[in-house]
Amino acid sequence: MFLCDYHIHTPRCGDAEGDYEEYIQEALQKGITEIGFSGHSPQYFLPKGERKRESAIPEEELSTYIQEVEKLREKYQGRITVRIGLEVDFVPGKEEAMYSIVDFYSWDYLLLSVHYLDGWPFDHPKYIGRYQEEDINEVYRRYYRTLKMGVETGVFDVVAHFDLPKKFGFLATETIVEVEEVLQSCREHNMVLEINTAGFYKPIGEAYPSFAILEQANKLGLQLCLGSDAHRPHEVGRSFDTALSLARSAGFQNLVSFEKRKRTFYPL
Ligand code: ZN
Ligand code: FE
Ligand code: FE
Repeated sequence: MFLCDYHIHTPRCGDAEGDYEEYIQEALQKGITEIGFSGHSPQYFLPKGERKRESAIPEEELSTYIQEVEKLREKYQGRITVRIGLEVDFVPGKEEAMYSIVDFYSWDYLLLSVHYLDGWPFDHPKYIGRYQEEDINEVYRRYYRTLKMGVETGVFDVVAHFDLPKKFGFLATETIVEVEEVLQSCREHNMVLEINTAGFYKPIGEAYPSFAILEQANKLGLQLCLGSDAHRPHEVGRSFDTALSLARSAGFQNLVSFEKRKRTFYPL
């Protein structure tokens, strides 16, 4: 059976541990047939002096990252398919710099992530205090408006951790209509949704996105892929059984595979 893990970090990101091959070995052990590395994109949106190694691949190491994964793709050919992707931060107003990262290489796929709202890294535990000062519903609305702008650039393949602001358990107290708008926009721009299992291990204790969003997405005809968001080798493919049963109960029938941005569908 086809099984992919498309959201895996690497030691080049600075916040991930272990060697590439440990991640691959873990995937092999867990019966994963396709593994995609998706390092954090260089922080193109910050001035060079303010970029932090612990949350991104430094721009000058991007080609090394690619070469390293290309080598492993060769080495493991026939045993496991290795894809080369990138988790790209979307920051409104910095699109031009972003395109230089997007065009840097013939990526197998690009994950779209929003980790910053007006410079606030809202999913970083260090900045969790800021939630006390914010109107939580407004945080969600701003997040989804930003995400929609990312979708509309048309350069991404997959929306990563769709409902990320729920990470620490702060939930919106109103219906956020923007959710539906982003999903519609995903359909228009042919974006794939990721079930990201890291959420099970965060205070919220559930996958991204929620089951309700998965059902909505399925009704709109969106397609699906799986990602563990592993930052350590043993995290590869974690909770994938649960993710698969969530996907099936939400009505999904396929998983998507990417090769140089071209898609193949495999039955779930
Ligand atoms: Zn990371
Ligand atoms: Fe992320
Ligand atoms: Fe990630």
